[in-house]
Amino acid sequence: MTLTALRADRLFDGVTCLDEPTVLLDDGRVAAVGEPVPAGVEVLDLPGATLLPGLVDTHVHLAFDAGADPVAALAARDPEAELAAMADAAQAQLRAGVTTVRDLGDRDYSALRLATDLTVVAAGPPITSVGGHCHYLGGETTDVRAAVRERADRGCAVIKVMASGGGLTPGTDVLAPQFTDAELAAVVDEAHRHGLPVTAHAHALAAVAQAVRAGVDGIEHASFLTADGVEVPDELVAAIVRQRVVIGATLGIVPVPGAMPPPHVLRHLPAFRATLARLIAEGAVVVAGTDAGIGPVKPHGVLPRALVELVGLGMSPLDALRTGTTTAARVVGLGDRKGRLAPGYDADLLAVAGDPVADPAALLEPVAVVVGGRVSEVAR
Ligand SMILES: [Zn+2]
Repeated sequence: MTLTALRADRLFDGVTCLDEPTVLLDDGRVAAVGEPVPAGVEVLDLPGATLLPGLVDTHVHLAFDAGADPVAALAARDPEAELAAMADAAQAQLRAGVTTVRDLGDRDYSALRLATDLTVVAAGPPITSVGGHCHYLGGETTDVRAAVRERADRGCAVIKVMASGGGLTPGTDVLAPQFTDAELAAVVDEAHRHGLPVTAHAHALAAVAQAVRAGVDGIEHASFLTADGVEVPDELVAAIVRQRVVIGATLGIVPVPGAMPPPHVLRHLPAFRATLARLIAEGAVVVAGTDAGIGPVKPHGVLPRALVELVGLGMSPLDALRTGTTTAARVVGLGDRKGRLAPGYDADLLAVAGDPVADPAALLEPVAVVVGGRVSEVAR
């Protein structure tokens, strides 16, 4: 038995802040939290820092390298080079204190083959229509039930479906659904039959509405786009709140000189922000889910910035911390192992310089990351 203790100035356990900022680790698990460190136990002291659970990003693409053209870069890689690039992406996540991710679109199930210390919940290639959004990842189908069954058989833990077109796929329509009502309902029915949640990529208002009607568990982007701009009907917001549909906000932007989000996104950014602020205010389940990897402004490990942005949209700092830990862990199906510092939980921790409850920007300064009980990164 190897006991190790961490001690900082403050501690957030995934739900609240505790008075005694200590965590005792026993091999790969949390043994005790908020208790005086027993004599004789080795202590890693982190003066000035705050301890919190390792962060959880509900929407990343490890197969995309966050370069100027991640789709072309992936196309140029053979499966071995793809796995090497994904391992680099995983390391970047860990360095930022993100210890669990949900990969919502790899190529040909590569995320299931990746060996990494990062905990990865994988969707496999997103289910899409023929020639539809991200078809090049290998998820085109005309038989959605068979597509869901294949993912269940291979060990995917979530079903990702492209309910509208998307910016990374020229020729697809971000203003229109890709599937019929019956097809999308069949995706949800077949997935739930296999015990898997469904999250739908949806930019179009029509696709968001269709996804809510179909009973999806989550919606990524939820851009509510129409030909005239962004339109957010009251009854649709009410249904999202009532059905507890998880909104993956795809927040998190790192300023990179010369790199900007595409014009169609930039133009609507104020409206997207207003929509998210409204969903938060009305009590919808909103997680940051960054879409890390899809471009230079969205590098792997961008989640801390997204949590800061949530505070800018009206979420309290404490709720933003809960969203990036407890809530996100529950959304990815690991709420009993990840996202909290409590006895029996996996020993995935982050320590940041300063107090993220007083100033969420403290999340951008990791000083230590612990994965499975091992200190993997310490910067002082
Ligand atoms: Zn995505």
